[in-house]
Amino acid sequence: MEGFIQASVNLETRTVDCCRNACLAFTHKRVQQNACDACGAPRYKADGKPAKQMTYWSLTSWLAHLLGDPVIEKSMLENMAAARKAAEEGADGVHDYYHAKISVSSSTKGYLAASASC
Ligand SMILES: [Zn+2]
Repeated sequence: MEGFIQASVNLETRTVDCCRNACLAFTHKRVQQNACDACGAPRYKADGKPAKQMTYWSLTSWLAHLLGDPVIEKSMLENMAAARKAAEEGADGVHDYYHAKISVSSSTKGYLAASASC
């Protein structure tokens, strides 16, 4: 089954170095770092090899794959529409993520725009 999935779906995986304590991956702005900036653990073992590595899956590939499924695509678009609507509504007290400042800010900045052209 795993072989079938690997042959059927291109999820653009790659191996990246990460903290041995699983705090973070040494990617993007951390690509040149030799120690974890969260816990201080060294990136490399004494032999110069990475202390730990993990598989990175491209978010873009995952989203393209998910949006290619008509059932999942419909659900994702409906949930995003509900999130946009909820973020626009005022809230007092404790509510769901939609009312959090980051969600409202994302909606205001257009990150949750209604277009779904993929
Ligand atoms: Zn760490």
